[in-house]
Amino acid sequence: MKVLVLNCGSSSIKYQFIDTETKIALAKGMVERIGMASAVLTHTPYGKDKIKIVGEILDHTIAIEYVIAVLLSPNHGVIKDKKEIEAVGHRVVHGGETFFKSALITDQVMQAIKDNIELAPLHNPSNIKGIRATKEHLPDIPQVAVFDTAFHVKMPPYAYLYGIPYELYRRYKIRRYGFHGTSHSYVSSRAAALIGKPIEELKIITAHLGNGCSMAAVDCGKSIDTTMGFTPLEGLLMGTRSGDIDPSVILYIMGKEGLSLSEANTLLNKHSGLIGLSGESSDMREIEEAVKEGNKKAISAHDVFCYRIKKYIGAYTAVMGGLDAVVFTGGIGENSSLVRKKSLSNLEYLGIELDDQLNENPSGETLISKSNSKVKVFRIPTNEELVIALDTEQIVKEEAVSKNLL
Ligand code: ADP
Repeated sequence: MKVLVLNCGSSSIKYQFIDTETKIALAKGMVERIGMASAVLTHTPYGKDKIKIVGEILDHTIAIEYVIAVLLSPNHGVIKDKKEIEAVGHRVVHGGETFFKSALITDQVMQAIKDNIELAPLHNPSNIKGIRATKEHLPDIPQVAVFDTAFHVKMPPYAYLYGIPYELYRRYKIRRYGFHGTSHSYVSSRAAALIGKPIEELKIITAHLGNGCSMAAVDCGKSIDTTMGFTPLEGLLMGTRSGDIDPSVILYIMGKEGLSLSEANTLLNKHSGLIGLSGESSDMREIEEAVKEGNKKAISAHDVFCYRIKKYIGAYTAVMGGLDAVVFTGGIGENSSLVRKKSLSNLEYLGIELDDQLNENPSGETLISKSNSKVKVFRIPTNEELVIALDTEQIVKEEAVSKNLL
């Protein structure tokens, strides 16, 4: 099936047009600066050079019209007819407690996504805009919502409840949700395939380390705990986000510095993490350059980043009662041998033995632990778009079966 995968943000849309049979992205690209006169569309057909189009793209409806037009374009396109787009899969950030799997978009599903806006005020509205815009241009094509939260939503209550009055959980749905679900799900199932055992028999810790970072305890194929929480702010140190913090620190800073709620929110989400501690950069490549130059604040930031990963490896090994594999993915997880090495140092007593040589130069999906390491360590490139495309295909086929159309 040929699936258009859309990740709609407030001023940008990332897209991939994927053939689920070959698992190849026939084209990928991005529309940026939506709402401005100088919006930019970059588009790369498979095996060809990237092209760039600059023009006025005032809203998501026009942006998606451009995406469809470039897919159809005689010079840069990959299809001849709109009908070749068989389904559209949308990344939807927050499915709340409603969605534990992907869903065919119906009026009811749209309403449920709207009901979850309060939980993801920055993301769900843009996802809704993208779904509506797609419906305008492709009214007869099935659309599927694939949720970042769905993989985690069935974790046990003792992992998702916060120690606040229960009534607040009931009233406002304040609980741990977790994010990056498609990535954790994908890399854990790839690890199981590489080990050659059913995922139902394995205890796996996945570390998705990009600009946003999270880890998950995947026990027998199910996420039983994850580091991000009610929002993507909790847990590991990130590029610009604080991760775990004593909640009193926030109140204390607000009092001392006279910060409003929105200023405190900006401080924790945009000016903390690697950039906050190092004062240098939120980008791990630049942090590691500064580490090499002996920059003390960058070294501290790097140390905190790796220490938290190690701490959660210990925690998740304990809650799963054992460990078979650790997987690193995301821009940092896939590319920083230093982060992998530091996070796993001195964990031999848990059965984790990294092979320094394999760790230095992995390519593609690579086993980077020693051959006798009890726990296997993998570097696995994530592919969230492919997961969305495959899920979309499955949901569309299930729907067709249930309507007796196949
Ligand atoms: P996003 O979460 O936005 O998808 P990515 O998964 O692309 O982000 O990850 C971006 C992060 O990966 C940045 O901090 C970047 O510095 C880091 N990164 C990319 N390549 C390397 C590398 N070779 N070494 C260390 N960090 C890297």
